[in-house]
Amino acid sequence: MMSIDTCEFCEGTVEHQQIRARFHFRGQTIYVDHVPAWVCTKCGEQYFDAPVYKRLEQIARQRERITETVCFPLAEYDMALNSHDGGERGAPPWTLHYRNCLSL
Ligand SMILES: [Zn+2]
Repeated sequence: MMSIDTCEFCEGTVEHQQIRARFHFRGQTIYVDHVPAWVCTKCGEQYFDAPVYKRLEQIARQRERITETVCFPLAEYDMALNSHDGGERGAPPWTLHYRNCLSL
């Protein structure tokens, strides 16, 4: 197995871990749990061995078989500036920018 010791971005130490990997494929993002990966302990950059990367690609190609989705709040940077005057009118403005899950 290829071994990576040093992060190519920040030169931090890279450790082998099982992670929830974020994987970009053809403009889509999917998350995959329990992926063996190399993770920089300093900046969090993720590296995958070639066979692992191939497998992630295969999973991404079959994304219609993925049944679980993970949602993240999506905020507008500008909206956050108005957060202190949102109290009277109900929900704080950033909740307006929660959107449906991106289809993963
Ligand atoms: Zn790093």
